[in-house]
Amino acid sequence: MSATLSTGTPDVQITETDCFIDGKWVPASSGKTFATVNPATEEEITQIAEGDADDVDAAAKAARHAFENGEWPKMDARDRGRLMYKLADRIESEIDALARLETLDNGKPIGDSRNVDLPLAIDCIRYYAGYADKIHGSTIPIRGNHLCYTRREPIGVAGQIIPWNFPLLMTAWKWGPALAAGCTIVMKPAEQTPLTCLRLAQLAKEVGFPDGVINVIPGFGPTAGAACVKHPLIDKIAFTGEHRTAQIITRDSADTLKRLTFELGGKSPNVIFADADMDAAAQGAYVGLFLNQGQCCCAGSRVFVESSKHDEFLDKLQKLASKRKVGDPFAADTEQGPQVDKDQFDKIMSYIDKGKSEGANCVTGGNRVGDKGYFIEPTVFTDVNDEMSIATDEIFGPVLSVLTFDDKEDMIRRANNTFYGLAAAVWTRDISIAHDFAARVRAGTVWVNCYDVFDAAAPFGGFKMSGYGRELGEEGLKAYTESKTVTVAL
Ligand code: ADP
Repeated sequence: MSATLSTGTPDVQITETDCFIDGKWVPASSGKTFATVNPATEEEITQIAEGDADDVDAAAKAARHAFENGEWPKMDARDRGRLMYKLADRIESEIDALARLETLDNGKPIGDSRNVDLPLAIDCIRYYAGYADKIHGSTIPIRGNHLCYTRREPIGVAGQIIPWNFPLLMTAWKWGPALAAGCTIVMKPAEQTPLTCLRLAQLAKEVGFPDGVINVIPGFGPTAGAACVKHPLIDKIAFTGEHRTAQIITRDSADTLKRLTFELGGKSPNVIFADADMDAAAQGAYVGLFLNQGQCCCAGSRVFVESSKHDEFLDKLQKLASKRKVGDPFAADTEQGPQVDKDQFDKIMSYIDKGKSEGANCVTGGNRVGDKGYFIEPTVFTDVNDEMSIATDEIFGPVLSVLTFDDKEDMIRRANNTFYGLAAAVWTRDISIAHDFAARVRAGTVWVNCYDVFDAAAPFGGFKMSGYGRELGEEGLKAYTESKTVTVAL
């Protein structure tokens, strides 16, 4: 690991800091603001409107009005798609500025923002733009002299609550299917990283989205977020975040029986058999955990290696982890930036301490980098057993646990021995083992000889306490529709 901690002064313009309601920028009705902080310097970037229940109420009314009475529901589906293509083009025309804004607010390396998050976000909006005019039901043969068919109708007003790890990409994942389906939106970005979502709202306004179709209320979870969850004019909540928050949302949405889709945490097993290409497997384990400072819900945080190859694998992994360049997220060669905020930083450091005190062997990293900014060394633990907290809890940081196995059946049991079920990977040249593992691991995504391959067309989501429903692909779109059955006597 090498570090450059002084951050260059990025050329970033911040123009949107208010609530975006019914096509207008307005301060929070309370007049309150909160700071968004640069995690590389711990300095305030700017003050943001602190929306609460009153602002959510105004946004929900605007979204409801746009859904029931505005141009949006009457608009030809192809025109809806064209607006979405325009938004994607507009984002692409500002790709460098948006990447800088994302890096400033979140701390992720500029190369990741520019070459991963932004292109995936643009691709997602284009993918769903193409779906806008291809949403349809089916005709169903039923008994008697009847014509029976289904219609796929928009679910209504979608409340969308997103986390801070991929702020702009999560905005695209949420807006894409909702807009294609013809829904209107009240979005609450994460309090740590509101800037790119607010900027996208302005770009949507500029390309011609009608007032009220997209509304954004920055603010905190228990106030603005909870107000979305409870609001009677909001039909659905799409949430990405922690499973504990999802439990609160489930309870808070009971009175209005909202439709819910959740994409939650994980403790994903990444399994390496002795016959695997060890260079590729080490690279896959490295990327699968350290990408985005380890702040990925699908991070491969439990690496199971067949015992006979443990030393060879570990040697390759350590070489990669120890060379990882940690530092100024605006430097072109930086591979790892700071964690998003002090809470996350403290939580990760406490897990590193727990790993050490519970008897695991910290073979790489384990320390803070510098004394300003929330930088942590890429950290690898060996001699980890299944009961240690670093093997059971989602750490959401650059901390990788290496476990070993000798028996395939036992390994599959251990891989599934978690209440999470978001992702899994297997590295082997044996196709029977690969498909057997893919079928038996209880996870929503399985990668074979790869990791973190995402595509807007491929559904993503969790088994067990990693979520309800799927995002992306056709399944992600359907989650923004209701099915209506129409039966006609002939
Ligand atoms: P994290 O710990 O990664 O920040 P959270 O689940 O706490 O994950 O946050 C994800 C998103 O959920 C954020 O936008 C946050 O403000 C929001 N949130 C937090 N608590 C609540 C809540 N009680 N109701 C609705 N949204 C919430």
